Amino acid sequence: MQIQFWGAARSVTGSMHLLSVNGHKLLLDCGLCQGRRKEAFERNRNLPFDAREIDAVILSHAHMDHSGNLPSLLKAGFTGPIYATSATRDLDAYMLLDSAHIQESDVAYVNKRRARQGKRLFEPLYTRQDAMETLTHFTSVEYGRPFEPVLGVQAHFRDAGHILGSASVVIDVNEQGRQRRLVFSGDIGRKGLPILRHPQVVENADYVIMESTYGNRFHESTGEAKEVLRQAALQVYDRRGKLIIPAFAVGRTQELAYRLDQLWEEGQLPPIDVFVDSPLAVNVTEVFRLHPECYDDETLKALLNESDRDPLGFKNMRYIRDVEGSKRLNELKTPAIIISASGMCEAGRILHHLKNNVEDPRTTVLFVGYQAEHTLGRKLLEGQDPVSIFGEEYRVRAQVRRAEGYSAHADRNELLSWAARTQSQGDLKRIFLVHGEEEGLLALAEGLRDQGAPQVDVPERGQAFEL
Ligand SMILES: [Zn+2]
Repeated sequence: MQIQFWGAARSVTGSMHLLSVNGHKLLLDCGLCQGRRKEAFERNRNLPFDAREIDAVILSHAHMDHSGNLPSLLKAGFTGPIYATSATRDLDAYMLLDSAHIQESDVAYVNKRRARQGKRLFEPLYTRQDAMETLTHFTSVEYGRPFEPVLGVQAHFRDAGHILGSASVVIDVNEQGRQRRLVFSGDIGRKGLPILRHPQVVENADYVIMESTYGNRFHESTGEAKEVLRQAALQVYDRRGKLIIPAFAVGRTQELAYRLDQLWEEGQLPPIDVFVDSPLAVNVTEVFRLHPECYDDETLKALLNESDRDPLGFKNMRYIRDVEGSKRLNELKTPAIIISASGMCEAGRILHHLKNNVEDPRTTVLFVGYQAEHTLGRKLLEGQDPVSIFGEEYRVRAQVRRAEGYSAHADRNELLSWAARTQSQGDLKRIFLVHGEEEGLLALAEGLRDQGAPQVDVPERGQAFEL
């Protein structure tokens, strides 16, 4: 078999790995590349292989950097099945449509100005119609259920504990009687995330493709993260400003709601309005309700309990679906917390909130998730001033803060422990590190070697390995 790394190779976005076995081609993930806009767009549009030759796709989870470029794959001629857990499929139903909508409306917004300037108009990467078409290719498979994506390959999903439906993909390959097991970790979650179970490890792995997002970093405890949130809320309340929290609609938004609700119940939150400005977040919360098979014991218990506490219901929070409601937030004179997507400030309504508030010194922008290189989120975190939003420059007078304890990704210790447990349960031969920036990848590779891992590789984009 051959594995070729086409995305999230020495970077964190655009997860996409091509597996060739017995003359068949399998794609692991098909994520959107994010970062420098033009470069990312070109890379997303021009796939590095012939999409018509791909027999099937296996998805680790619904985050857009793992599944968001599927419509481009279909546009390029892919006709096969897309295997995913049913929770991933249901999340993607909303997320792919949302992604298409964002791309259409961002392009429309930019085109309006380009038309005035007499410049050539842009095309969206894909449309809602393309996203709808993609959904008809999904085949749902629950955790632990074996499936045969191509002849000679048996696969199944294990819980990765990262977001609802997230999985590590276990691939058992039989080539001329030779049996080997390849494990693609997907994004590895953490113990103690609300709602979800702990990440599982896989026994008898021969090869592992492993994520490394926080390969060189340690998370704050979730307690500290909650304290940062409390302080930021108090601060904007006193200054009568706004607390803007860029967050992905899936996972992080529900976790923030859960924590804000906790603070409110404990009497630690001032009487401040909280808005989740994302139609997607409303839909996604409904998807959470449909998938108790993904819950941890605590959430299941709370759900089955007769008390009126709803583990997925968030009091004191208003969800905004329509554009008019979103625009009204601009005129709001009272202090407020606004949670909006996208989490790395690359697209969506968050751009409008930043545009309207980043020049106001009463504003605090609080980052609760990973910010990839070259994204607006990363630029703000690194103190760039001015920043460009929709092609115009804005001075950064807002305070920019970060709370890392909210991560849905394992940190360095948790990654090392996941790898050590995997290695202890079999005869592991090789680890490929993906989904990290150079420093994190190299630091994790060193950590793995120090704890006695076998061969560790950090593939470059396009690099192929015969196994
Ligand atoms: Zn993810």
